[in-house]
Amino acid sequence: MIYLDYASTCPVDKEVLNTYLKASEEFFASTSAMHFLGKEANKAYMAASEEIKAILNLKHHNIIYTLNATEANNLAILGQVSKYSGGRIITTKVEHASVYEVMKSLEDRYDVYYLDVDEFGQIDLNQLRSALNNETILVSIMWVNNVVGSVMDVAEIIDIVKHYHKAKLHIDIVQGFCKVVNDFDFNDIDMFTISTHKIYGPKGIGVLFVKDNLNLKKIIQGSTAQFNLRPGTFDLSLVIATAKTIKKFYPLTKDFLDYVTKLSQYLLNGLKDNKKIIINSPSSRYNPYILSLSVPSIKGETLVRILEDNKIYVSTGSACSSKSQKPEKTIFAMTKDVKRATSAIRISLSHLTTFDELNEVIRVLKEI
Ligand code: PLP
Repeated sequence: MIYLDYASTCPVDKEVLNTYLKASEEFFASTSAMHFLGKEANKAYMAASEEIKAILNLKHHNIIYTLNATEANNLAILGQVSKYSGGRIITTKVEHASVYEVMKSLEDRYDVYYLDVDEFGQIDLNQLRSALNNETILVSIMWVNNVVGSVMDVAEIIDIVKHYHKAKLHIDIVQGFCKVVNDFDFNDIDMFTISTHKIYGPKGIGVLFVKDNLNLKKIIQGSTAQFNLRPGTFDLSLVIATAKTIKKFYPLTKDFLDYVTKLSQYLLNGLKDNKKIIINSPSSRYNPYILSLSVPSIKGETLVRILEDNKIYVSTGSACSSKSQKPEKTIFAMTKDVKRATSAIRISLSHLTTFDELNEVIRVLKEI
């Protein structure tokens, strides 16, 4: 079996899993409980958050644990815009559904502005500059696109948005975190989101980092847990496992990136004589973990099935939209080509991927 759908989710790292299991045995009490066991659990919860903040060198952020990055993105966006009855929101045409669909749902109450992308999956920073105004309450732009791997210029975005005091900046860093080396300071972003299962941790937990002066409105009503932003009892072992995952994988970002860059170049090289294949991923400012390609004569879904028959597991455009059979919106926004956008598949790599696995992918694609 060759698994190449790591951008969708990853297997859990053994050490992380052991940490999770140990913590589940050790801490079962609620972190909100008044008794000794609750206090011990609360100490472990705070220690995990402090550890994460220290690794990322965060000075003014609170950490909110959610079910997944989808919920974290919802909380960031709805929590910020609900403070206002109107105003401008700026986002892009290529966000993950957990941002894009929230934006769609806000269109009747807010002035939502969608930035275009060029053929390389990049936004136009001048378009961002002209879209910003004093009524802008939120800018939400992803770091790394989950379909083609284009890497947005977050450092520039921070520089542009900071001149608008009402406008808070949310960055979905899910596909960049522990994959791409950040050339910006996390401290300069008001809110950002990660997903533990995309970085070899367990599923069932996402994280929202939010500046402590933001006063977001909570979107689920209940207790005052988690800075009065995310009520409900949560699984402390998932929190501890998240801290362990970040501690293990964040420092390895550069080493793994170097290896995966070689893998990606090898794969591209192996596919380059195959004239039926069009590469959708850009060749600069890109994340080599993600390779999107189209064979316009074959539907993406069909190509995924044929690869599956050969025990190679990839997804169409993006795993989340793969069942909708609609043209993939990022590729359509980049190319305006329906055929390319319905025939795209996404191959996503890992430090666990081997050159032998890629040889098999190259061979099977050639045969197809
Ligand atoms: N944001 C991006 C860029 C993603 O790629 C994904 C998942 O694919 C998500 C958010 C949502 O993550 P989760 O599965 O944790 O809800």
